[in-house]
Amino acid sequence: MADHGSGSKRPATQVVTGGRRKTWTGAVVNPPVWRGSTHLYDDVAHLRDGLKSNGDGKFFYGRRGSPTQWSLAEALTEMEPGAVGTMLYPSGVAAISCALLAVLEPGDEVLLTDSSYDPSRSFADTFLKRMGVTAGYYDPTIGSNITGQFGPNTKAILMESPGSLTFEIQDVPAICEAARNAGVVTLLDNTWATSRFFPALEHGVDIAIIAATKYIVGHSDVMMGAVTTHNGYWTRVRRTAQQLGQVVSPDDAYLAARGLRTLEVRLRQHEASALKIANWLKQRPEVGLVLHPALPECPGHEIWQRDFKGSSGLFSFELEDGNEQSRAAFIDALDLFGIGYSWGGFESLALPVDPGKHRTATEWTIKGALVRLNIGLEDPDDLIADLAKAFEHYHSATR
Ligand SMILES: *Cc1c(COP(=O)(O)O)cnc(C)c1O
Repeated sequence: MADHGSGSKRPATQVVTGGRRKTWTGAVVNPPVWRGSTHLYDDVAHLRDGLKSNGDGKFFYGRRGSPTQWSLAEALTEMEPGAVGTMLYPSGVAAISCALLAVLEPGDEVLLTDSSYDPSRSFADTFLKRMGVTAGYYDPTIGSNITGQFGPNTKAILMESPGSLTFEIQDVPAICEAARNAGVVTLLDNTWATSRFFPALEHGVDIAIIAATKYIVGHSDVMMGAVTTHNGYWTRVRRTAQQLGQVVSPDDAYLAARGLRTLEVRLRQHEASALKIANWLKQRPEVGLVLHPALPECPGHEIWQRDFKGSSGLFSFELEDGNEQSRAAFIDALDLFGIGYSWGGFESLALPVDPGKHRTATEWTIKGALVRLNIGLEDPDDLIADLAKAFEHYHSATR
């Protein structure tokens, strides 16, 4: 079989073929787990030769990975049109922190969306602050008005679209264009859509970040992050990750690659089931807003329609007259939904979320109690029956 390297294949094919070079797989389908810290050289000349290049695909030392990690990184790069490389990190948070550290210096300002994933916020407000970087926050619906937030020291913008609790879709192309004109680098946390539903670099983003823990791994058994970028930032992103000692284990890379191979069918099922459940929730008298980018009431829905190729399985809804106690009664009554952090796995999850606590640039005006659902791969009608039963418990708690 020939090596797979062309980026011209359709996405469903790419997730199957990506990174499976024959030199890495040998005679089997999946690149084996190459466990190793030391890589042995043939002779001293070969050892010296190893210092000459710093790229994937050449043995050097365990910290720079092995075919197991290179293959996964290459597959992720192929899925992102315009990208030249991908670095892997031991978590999504590590990917975000290292990407920011790759572009920021003391004295800089970074702008973050007010809908940011909370650990991103906390990294900016504490670690980056200590480093002499100031953080500013902007309304996720700001669009090209982002220019009004640019100061003399603005260096980078960290977007997240949609926000992972509140699901506002941002006008990423408009923000990126404004940033490019001002010499500001753009980063996007693209965990919800992945490059499959939102090819970030094609929409103007410089540095695309994914918590691979979610949909790439897809089975709730591995933590991993990935940063994919174009020529302009690749060397910086790579060097920074290496200097900070970022490496993922070959066992984890193997599992993540195994998850990736079914990404297309999983995402399509997550999408269909989540839409079915979101539409069912909309009809319930107990429910106020359903914050799902594919539904018109979600802020930025028109932008989702314009820019995205699909929607995934994570969304929130409002228990209109809910409070802490009745919301807890609702969630506790669910059998098929686990209670826990993270998402993107094959199993459904429910989480109470309170986005108002994390806002500084905008006011959170929704009064009811918010529940975030990760819709897994169970039969959606069973999930709906489970939710219907939980509403009965909710009523007893509100009465
Ligand atoms: C989970 C998550 C992360 C962090 O990923 P970890 O692998 O859990 O560190 C980052 N961004 C978003 C939007 C997430 O949901």
